[in-house]
Amino acid sequence: MEISQPLEELEWIPRPKILALRRLGITSAEDLLTHFPRRHEDRHQFAEFPRDESDKPICLCGEVIKTSLRRFGGWRKIFEATLQEPNANALSQPLVCRWFNLHYIQKMIATGQQIVVFGKPKLRGKRLCMDHPEFEVIEDDEEKSIHLRRITPIYPATEGLSQRMLRSIIYRLLQELDTEPIEPLLPKNLKNGDRGEAIRAIHFPETWQARDAAREHLVLSEFFAMQMLIASRRTEAHARVSAAHSGRGELMEKFLRSLPFELTSAQKKVIAEIRRDMESRFPMNRLLQGDVGSGKTVVAIAAILLAVEGGYQAAFMAPTQILAEQHYAVLGRWLEPLGVKLSIRTAARQEESFLPLVEGDEKADVIIGTHALLYEKVSFSNLGFVVIDEQHKFGVAQRARLTSREPAPDVLVMTATPIPRTLTMTVYGDLDVSILDEMPRGRGKIITAVRDSAKLGEVLSFLRTQLETGRQLYVVYPLIEESEKLEAKAAATEYERWRERLHQYSCELLHGRIPGPEKQQIMERFRHGETKGLISTTVIEVGVDVPNATVMLVENSERFGLAQLHQLRGRIGRGEHKSYCILLTSEPTSEAAAKLAVLEKTSDGFEVAEADWELRGPGDLLGTAQSGLPALKIGDLRRDAQLMKRARTSAMSIFEMDPRLEWPENQHFRQLIVEKQGRTFSNVS
Ligand code: ADP
Ligand code: MG
Repeated sequence: MEISQPLEELEWIPRPKILALRRLGITSAEDLLTHFPRRHEDRHQFAEFPRDESDKPICLCGEVIKTSLRRFGGWRKIFEATLQEPNANALSQPLVCRWFNLHYIQKMIATGQQIVVFGKPKLRGKRLCMDHPEFEVIEDDEEKSIHLRRITPIYPATEGLSQRMLRSIIYRLLQELDTEPIEPLLPKNLKNGDRGEAIRAIHFPETWQARDAAREHLVLSEFFAMQMLIASRRTEAHARVSAAHSGRGELMEKFLRSLPFELTSAQKKVIAEIRRDMESRFPMNRLLQGDVGSGKTVVAIAAILLAVEGGYQAAFMAPTQILAEQHYAVLGRWLEPLGVKLSIRTAARQEESFLPLVEGDEKADVIIGTHALLYEKVSFSNLGFVVIDEQHKFGVAQRARLTSREPAPDVLVMTATPIPRTLTMTVYGDLDVSILDEMPRGRGKIITAVRDSAKLGEVLSFLRTQLETGRQLYVVYPLIEESEKLEAKAAATEYERWRERLHQYSCELLHGRIPGPEKQQIMERFRHGETKGLISTTVIEVGVDVPNATVMLVENSERFGLAQLHQLRGRIGRGEHKSYCILLTSEPTSEAAAKLAVLEKTSDGFEVAEADWELRGPGDLLGTAQSGLPALKIGDLRRDAQLMKRARTSAMSIFEMDPRLEWPENQHFRQLIVEKQGRTFSNVS
């Protein structure tokens, strides 16, 4: 039998189960083999029944001595199964397993059965209960040896396919495969050992050590495959011919001299890195990471000027209208005196027929815009350089849209969202990375404080003292996306309240539903200090730069993610004055408190990012859809960071030595990349 064989051809699998398996995305033998257990249970010997509650889930086995179904609160039902320990003595206490509103459970559990349960025991009155435990009914048959008295795998299952059934199918499959070799997916230097062994051991390990070793092997394989894909993309991108920006850099020097401040050494270092890339014939694909306020825009302008001096056009893409307009204003201020021509392209600008600085995109040196740059007809005459701001809002495919022309423009992707290193190696794995790890001097400190909404009175008087001294204020509140109409209404109500609270000071309202030009005017008035308070949704999240705005109040702050709050906070602390960020919360759960405490403690974006990652736990961190990378089946980016590093080093060195994967020992990987990922090597020389 072949590992790629479709399940239909395996006659011993009951037909209805094939449908259920398909629901889990399993259609071939290989899919089944890589349907990895979520966890394992040691069923050699079960723990004694506990006397007390515990926060850690435990695995127990017992006999069902009683079941009952009760109603509560009208139509709701609770099903209870009371378990007794096998060798019960006078001291042992039964365990009550409870399920709420899951009518089908009562059909699965009956008195006299032996069942294995997994969950957290909690005291409910005098009874020890386990609510909604995972469970498995033990059946006395010849298959018992598969399910008991071993380290037993627990799989992600689905309706119509029990743990037991799934486990039996995988067990049988492994037996059928007994004599078949399973091809290795790792280069020798990365890991010795056999993939077939690892697959066997991840499902039915003899020992915990064997399980861990198998897991490491499989995680490495998965990461290695991912890094090979990334490395192939990178190699392909490098093989393209790009514009070589080899001017003398006079325009850039002129610009840098005109700045009222000295560049930080981080900025100098990064500009040098970018310049080196831009001068080469290889296309630049570089990620510029820097916390909010670290001065990325200056770096971007310097790079733009290198391109413009060489006679190329540059494009600058921002994620929102407000930001595009702001970049347009900032760039205009610096670049016009140098004789550089700008134009702007956003959806709203078109409708409103604002006059661009120059007519026609062909004559502009720099075109600034939003997604409109991608989707509307923008006639670049000689695009040589692209800046993409706040990359996390754009996907890989969108990036490609702007850059897949000949010759390849150099690309600088900027992000203010600090990303843990493992993620950078993955999501941005095909980019080179520059980091602005230093803030300009003379920045006012930001003090962050979490306050209970009940204390709004005190907070208000603090806000007034700040406004009194001439500072400006942001009030941010979250809106859960309901309907746009509701949103606008909620925003308006909120705004009225704030106008009353701060009636001596002029306030304005800003949210996503306000038409572009009007939004722009509101921002202008705030920038110029005509408006003292801006009551806003998160449209101000990125990039807005008003140094005199030093106070931010975030309402219901627990509803925002950590990264987002950090971004928001980056709007203040931009001038010389001390800044204050007040996080109001009405929900002092321990979870919310832990989250908000992180921000009180640190204003370092990387620390925030790591903490965020830790608190959120695993999830779709890759942003799989955006990154165009396959979802992970077994690896955990955080827990397995070290393995990712090894996989990356290995993949990169293979491509470095053998970019077309022609060496005999690499042919196998080449085949995998071509087959599984649909990549070609046509461009690579
Ligand atoms: P970012 O985009 O990284 O959040 P910006 O480029 O918008 O940061 O810079 C924030 C502010 O700091 C701007 O007003 C900018 O002019 C100023 N700035 C940039 N670099 C420096 C520097 N080296 N010293 C002082 N101020 C700087
Ligand atoms: Mg910025």
